[in-house]
Amino acid sequence: MNLPALLLALLPVLSGPDGRLQVHFSEDGGALRYSIAYDGRTLVEPSRLGLQTNDADYTRLEAVSSETQQTRDTYVLDRIKVSRVDHPAVRAVLHCKNPQGRPLDIEWHLTANDAAFRYLIPKDTETGSVRVLREASAFRFPEGTTGFLTPQSDAMIGWKRSKPSYEEFYRLDVPLSERSQYGHGFTFPCLFRVGDDGWVLVSETGVDSRYCASHLSDYDPAEGYSLAFPMPEENNGNGTVEPAFALPGATPWRTLTVGSGLAPIVETTIPFDVVTPRYETSRGYRYGKSSWSWIVWQDASMNRADQVAFIDLAAAMGWPYILIDAGWDKEFGHAGMEDLVRYARGKGVDVFLWYSSSGWWNDIVQSPTDIMCDPLARKPEMRWLERIGVKGIKVDFFGGDKQETMRLYEAILSDADDHGLMCIFHGATLPRGWERMYPNYVGSEAVLASENLVFGQVHCDLESQNAALHPFLRNTVGSMEFGGVFLNRRLDRRNGEPGRGGRVSGTLRRTTDAAELAIAVLYQNPIQNFALTPNNLTDAPAEAIAFLREVPTTWDETRLVDGYPGRDIVLARRHGAAWYVAAVNAGDEPLAVDVRALEARFGGTARVLSTGKDGLQAGPATKKPLRLPKDDGAVIIIR
Ligand code: CA
Repeated sequence: MNLPALLLALLPVLSGPDGRLQVHFSEDGGALRYSIAYDGRTLVEPSRLGLQTNDADYTRLEAVSSETQQTRDTYVLDRIKVSRVDHPAVRAVLHCKNPQGRPLDIEWHLTANDAAFRYLIPKDTETGSVRVLREASAFRFPEGTTGFLTPQSDAMIGWKRSKPSYEEFYRLDVPLSERSQYGHGFTFPCLFRVGDDGWVLVSETGVDSRYCASHLSDYDPAEGYSLAFPMPEENNGNGTVEPAFALPGATPWRTLTVGSGLAPIVETTIPFDVVTPRYETSRGYRYGKSSWSWIVWQDASMNRADQVAFIDLAAAMGWPYILIDAGWDKEFGHAGMEDLVRYARGKGVDVFLWYSSSGWWNDIVQSPTDIMCDPLARKPEMRWLERIGVKGIKVDFFGGDKQETMRLYEAILSDADDHGLMCIFHGATLPRGWERMYPNYVGSEAVLASENLVFGQVHCDLESQNAALHPFLRNTVGSMEFGGVFLNRRLDRRNGEPGRGGRVSGTLRRTTDAAELAIAVLYQNPIQNFALTPNNLTDAPAEAIAFLREVPTTWDETRLVDGYPGRDIVLARRHGAAWYVAAVNAGDEPLAVDVRALEARFGGTARVLSTGKDGLQAGPATKKPLRLPKDDGAVIIIR
């Protein structure tokens, strides 16, 4: 046996708990690489590992030894796609050293369909802290692989120079060679179809104040996608792009979810499996539905009569919350807000209040500004919020993905928990394990959300495509505060009523009412700010209103029944004893949904909300499958 073959033979192979997922290692030219196979099919080709700090270069590594341990991921979490996680896992540590003999560990966490890794840097010298200059971690795919990808935006562009904010269009099933729109690569998560061999979802988790958030570079034919740090221009050019931490220390987890089909992609819990709570809470948080005037009635609704109308709407729907959006401080002042909160609570409705994060990283004038970025202003404000009985805040317009922004998210969350306040983030980065890390975190936008349906027709034209896409992508790795479910046909206050000169205003919704109801189940967030308006109580189908009164916002189980990203989806979520199966079709071919088969699979009797001759209808299962045309949907409740 020659020497290179001997070295190769010493490299371990890691196997997932049922042996179907395997991680192989190889060394070439001093670089350590991993590859991933599922059922013997290569889904990730040999891809680089390693990183470089200001203290040591670990981009050339030799694997020295390894340890593996069988374990289980067991925890309860009341805000994600399942309420109880309990599955076998394998933990492994690959002990490595660089050519100078400096040690580095690579920790692996394998479940049946997930492989996650992170770097552990020991304190092996007097050096007590490091700056990470770059990560070499890469992701290479077999030829013919296609991507479902959304680009990382330029910094300091868009509304009041508030990007990047993870609000870009997706490109579906595109070749790896396709360059990103802005030339900065793609935001997590990224989905890849490896021909007919399987699927890979790449993301990261466990990002907190001790690191930056990352994304994928554009594709390089030799090395594949590489992990990319934020751009220097983010945060108005302020703050470093190179994360720093104390030693011993760890990077966030790089996660790969693999499968021959898409169910493991939709059902994965890897973003939460490998993280732990950053602090314990003594507070109890209650989730549920919320009314929200701004989404359809916009800025003009920031007045007492309209806010009262939306408080009364929440009360009429039996919803626990109202979200009062930007501009409340100028309209009501703090004293006026105390009065409005008192009115809401008298109706059994609790309040979320909007804040800008700003700051010195955008030109936002929507107020209140300059409170959440400053602990000296933030702490007394949160004391006031707790005193008047506010239950949560929505903080908007963050500066980017640098470590200093991750510190701000964590500081706001931790201060808010001291005052029993839940946090929603908009104009924000992707959450990366935050549902488990921060007990009062309840969702982020990080998507082209419902406001765009109001702003532009193209978003209405793409609404069903996005409904069939996000459960496979954005929403599978974290709560998605989309703010959807419209029952207006025209998405403005007039709802199709002609204005001056007979002109009809507002974007036109393409979806059926049944598809909108399906979106209430497809999009997962423990607090749902729905886009219902007071007129819907009388002009929308009674079955739709009844459904929006009862639909849960938290789930015990989630199962993909069928679908293809961006074309169609049939997804089942269980709450207690009831399964809610939601279907939406964005494809040109009708989507068949066999309700009898769903009854057999999920065990019970179905009540079907679907589109009939006269619009939304409710009824039992019929022998013939439903046939949903493009932009139609259905909800099948089985209990
Ligand atoms: Ca937004």
